[in-house]
Amino acid sequence: MSDRKTSSKAGGLSAVPVVALAAGDGIGPEISQAVISILEASGAELHFDHLAIGLQAYKDGHAGGIPEAAWEQIEAADVILKAPITTPSGGGVKSLNVSLRKRLGLAVNLRPCRSYAPYVQTRHPLMDLVIVRENEEDLYAGIEYQQSQQSVQAVKLITRPGCERVIRYAFDYARANGHQKVTALVKDNIMKMSDGMFWDIFQATAKQYPDLENERLIVDIGMARVADTPEDFEVIVCQNLYGDILSDITAQLSGSVGMCGSANLGEQHAMFEAIHGSAPDLAGTDKANPSGMLQAACLMLEYLGDNQQAKLIQNAWLTTLEQGIHTIDLESELTAQTVGTQQFAAAVISNLGSSPSQMKPARSAAQQVKVLPAPQPIRGSSRQLAGVDVFIHHHGPVTELAETLQSLSGNLTLSSIACRGAAVWPQQSPQALLNDQLCARMMHPEQQASPEDSAALLVAMNEAGIEFVGTQHLYLLNGQPGWTALQGD
Ligand code: NAD
Repeated sequence: MSDRKTSSKAGGLSAVPVVALAAGDGIGPEISQAVISILEASGAELHFDHLAIGLQAYKDGHAGGIPEAAWEQIEAADVILKAPITTPSGGGVKSLNVSLRKRLGLAVNLRPCRSYAPYVQTRHPLMDLVIVRENEEDLYAGIEYQQSQQSVQAVKLITRPGCERVIRYAFDYARANGHQKVTALVKDNIMKMSDGMFWDIFQATAKQYPDLENERLIVDIGMARVADTPEDFEVIVCQNLYGDILSDITAQLSGSVGMCGSANLGEQHAMFEAIHGSAPDLAGTDKANPSGMLQAACLMLEYLGDNQQAKLIQNAWLTTLEQGIHTIDLESELTAQTVGTQQFAAAVISNLGSSPSQMKPARSAAQQVKVLPAPQPIRGSSRQLAGVDVFIHHHGPVTELAETLQSLSGNLTLSSIACRGAAVWPQQSPQALLNDQLCARMMHPEQQASPEDSAALLVAMNEAGIEFVGTQHLYLLNGQPGWTALQGD
């Protein structure tokens, strides 16, 4: 390792890359120590700048787990190598991982995952796939509300530029790395607008890559197929939550959740980490598998252009697996020796310079693909307010509420009342009994409402003693409804 602290961002192509290093929580410090010892022994030219982020920073009162001084180190570094962090549960704190991804614009999460048969036990010896996961949006944006005792809502926020970026990256990555097929996992049969947009953009993008096969699977059967025959998949692109779940599944299929690393990539920054969490159940036991973080470190070296070092470490690691030297999570009849975290690292170090004799040696580095700037938002399309959904905290018969709403003067009239997305008025349904929050859909008869109509409606509701807790404007976009129909409507 070097003492030079010059980030190549600060100028100078020959500078030793500065790696902002977070040692993490739980098993983080143990696997970091193991990985750093391997990087050091490999002779990789890196300067580590240690970050004080994570659980202790949360305890010190930093709601996002990252003090401002650490942000400065992160933004000045060439790359970030991060061990897993424990996210405290409960309100008042934000996930550090999500904050890093959003503030640094790490739009794409690349998660390669393969099997190491016949040296690591797996039912899927031919699996070799890459998950390209959207990294900033979806339910992971963490936008949640509780407006009554009985209901909580989480907002699934999806943007066109966000989808376009990750989908284009997936096709570019597939083409650059000699893959034949890109698969999208969506649930557009249910989430017609959010997943529907992802699917529409996938189809439109696929047309620009006629050399690549493309397919769409509904996420539930898609994940089932990946779990059953992962060898049928090459590059899979999906939204944030689906990608997170899927990568734990594929890592587990490869032998252990401790086996896969990931690259979080943006236009300006890149962060590398294992896909697993801080495994508090293993903390301090020297039992954790450091392979996921080591894979992340190799992705980092490739990103920095240090392909030789990445290959050296990969081959030493494959040789170690081939020798049957396993951490306890990989233990099977194929295991010759079960070792702890640091002993595993020592075995990898002693194998530096060796290549596996049976397993395919480390392939040449994956072709680097740039995360392109987000496309400009579409302009010039028509947008007309047609009505408003008003969320109401309500106890008592729905018919009484309906009568009060019908008696209000104004340009918006009651179209329906829903509970949990299903119509309960004018149809009758026991649904209403299950929740204390209802949604009144108030429409303009010609679908030509104004913001004044909406404001006047709220004033009238307030005067009538109706407790509204939120509103959602309903727009026609290019003449098409920007809202979903209610079930039973
Ligand atoms: P986890 O991934 O930490 O653990 C799930 C299971 O996998 C546990 O049984 C654990 O022992 C095992 N495991 C995980 N990593 C392993 C390894 N390297 N070697 C051997 N076994 C391993 O998931 P969790 O328990 O849901 O989360 C624990 C904490 O980690 C939570 O606070 C969560 O928020 C956090 N987390 C952080 C990140 C991150 O920093 N990127 C990612 C996921 C979860």
